[in-house]
Amino acid sequence: MTAAATQRTNLLGLPRAALESFVAQLGGQPFRARQLMNWMYKRGVGSFADMTDLARDFRTLLAAQAEVRAPQILSQQRSGDGTRKWLLRADAAQAFEMVFIPEPDRGTLCISSQVGCALDCSFCATAQQGFNRNLSTAEMVGQVWLAVRELEREEQQRALAATPGAVSAPADERRVSNVVLMGMGEPLANFRNVVPALRILLDDFGFDLSRRRVTLSTSGLVPQIYKLAQETNVALAVSLHAPDDALRNELVPINRKHPIAELLRACWHYLDEQNGRSVTFEYVMLEGVNDSAAQARALARLLQGHPAKVNLIPFNPFPGTHYTRSPASVIERFRDELLQRGVLATIRRTRGEDIDAACGQLAGRVIDRTTVRLGSKVIGVAVQT
Ligand code: SAH
Repeated sequence: MTAAATQRTNLLGLPRAALESFVAQLGGQPFRARQLMNWMYKRGVGSFADMTDLARDFRTLLAAQAEVRAPQILSQQRSGDGTRKWLLRADAAQAFEMVFIPEPDRGTLCISSQVGCALDCSFCATAQQGFNRNLSTAEMVGQVWLAVRELEREEQQRALAATPGAVSAPADERRVSNVVLMGMGEPLANFRNVVPALRILLDDFGFDLSRRRVTLSTSGLVPQIYKLAQETNVALAVSLHAPDDALRNELVPINRKHPIAELLRACWHYLDEQNGRSVTFEYVMLEGVNDSAAQARALARLLQGHPAKVNLIPFNPFPGTHYTRSPASVIERFRDELLQRGVLATIRRTRGEDIDAACGQLAGRVIDRTTVRLGSKVIGVAVQT
């Protein structure tokens, strides 16, 4: 790649206000930014030459100074249950993953926010890889842009190949209707790049997703939850995983810095500020570790009377882990203990397990050069705010 090419501004990284300033610098009117967004996000067009309602001179200028560049696909896999996983290039040595989960009433895209993760949660495959770097806004928005295009392209191919009258998947199942920041990385440790990406996901001229269809999941970076409350109103999910500090310190080491009571206060504050409905608490079911009836009751006591939902995630194993998944009957009993105490609880259906695409299994290709860890060891170094 030439020096000029690497200096071009990737428009996928610019929320509307920033795109308007960029366009203004090129001598364009603000409405040009909306036209550009329309091409990029509504029509999936990445080549300026194809944006036919822009003046030719302006297109030439854009082609010299800007680009619409999504991450490059290194490989892809399809699960027997229809779940898709893509391995995307971060640079010559590093890669990260993105997963699409089709369901009858929706299509959920799970995107990564970092290459690796510094949080060191003991039950998560990504943590074993270490942390390499934050993804840029363009790399996060680019994941959604790419998935939408890939799924559409496949759909067209299927339609061409289909025999007349053949039954195909319902439309909702094919397209991206929900985006969750639940892939590799801790989104709130990459605050500066994540917030503009959320803006583009929500913008009517961007992906135009409703705020309830975009979920940010965090392991509990409390100060960043307060900051997030000032910036956006997407749905919040929190990886709780334990009903008491002693156990959570072990499973989610950031808890030593921000214990459960502090974390829950931040969650309720987020809901108040953003007029949100509820916070989803993720709880991985680890056999003999956090899955007893007494622990379910302790969890219920923490959440009773608050706008909370618990999502129980059957543990997904990965090479080298010493944890095992709680049996289905134990998970159901745990759920019932919560429900009996008036705490909403569901069990997450495991998807994409056969291609290591399930929660906590994303490993990408991270060569850990920084050895920076959040949580138990070093705190704060990698948190970009
Ligand atoms: N770092 C953020 C985003 C990751 S979301 C966070 O911690 O919330 C991925 C979810 O899957 C988190 O709730 C995470 O705790 C959970 N998870 C991690 N490893 C898992 C595993 N092996 N099995 C099941 N769930 C896991």
